[in-house]
Amino acid sequence: MKILITNDDGIHAPGIHCLAEALAAVGEVAVVAPDRERSASSHALTLHHPLRAELIAPGRYAVDGTPTDCVNLGVHSLIDFHPDLVVSGINRGANLGDDVTYSGTVAAALEATLMGIPAFAISLASLEYAADYGGAATFAARLALQIRQHGLPLDTYLNVNVPAVAAELLKPPLFTTQGKRRYDGKIVDSVDPRGRSYYWIGTADFDFHDIDGSDVAALRRGHISVTPLHLDMTNHQALPLLRNWTF
Ligand code: MN
Repeated sequence: MKILITNDDGIHAPGIHCLAEALAAVGEVAVVAPDRERSASSHALTLHHPLRAELIAPGRYAVDGTPTDCVNLGVHSLIDFHPDLVVSGINRGANLGDDVTYSGTVAAALEATLMGIPAFAISLASLEYAADYGGAATFAARLALQIRQHGLPLDTYLNVNVPAVAAELLKPPLFTTQGKRRYDGKIVDSVDPRGRSYYWIGTADFDFHDIDGSDVAALRRGHISVTPLHLDMTNHQALPLLRNWTF
């Protein structure tokens, strides 16, 4: 199995090293990742300036672009194999509920799916730089083998979240739905040392609804969560209602 690895925390983040090590046991691995943190860059694609890629070790490239750029460059240019699987992570911090729409980690898996390549994103529910990524990395390798055996449903990629507990305390994976964030919309505004106003998004505490069967519920109970996501963003249930509208 040939595996392309990327992330949004940057190529020097501990999570991607741990992931690459674990996946090297189940396949041939190449890493193409942003040269710095690009968290919350979502599915951004760089179109208006050229990208640079630096070979920092055999099979490891640092790109001055987004996770989506990295998948593009990896698949179409930098790597000398066509990947059977793209894995993005291991992200520092969970990607749960509505937050998947901001996530560069998740978007990299989405980009691979657009190319017809099976993919998953994997995140550890800890913001500590020195967190233990071992349990998540082990699960990534097991999941890669499952995908090799079963494939993935059409246009579907997986969003994996792993609780931040010791590997032996992890509960079995559950297939889950995308949960729901509780928004407070708080923005910190203040004045910088030069007297100019600034605004800082996302600094408030946030929370999620505890919905049965959701990614959030699984994680809160100590389970690994695996949510199948797909490319079709159509709300099929809304269509019959909207088609009653007359113009
Ligand atoms: Mn990140």
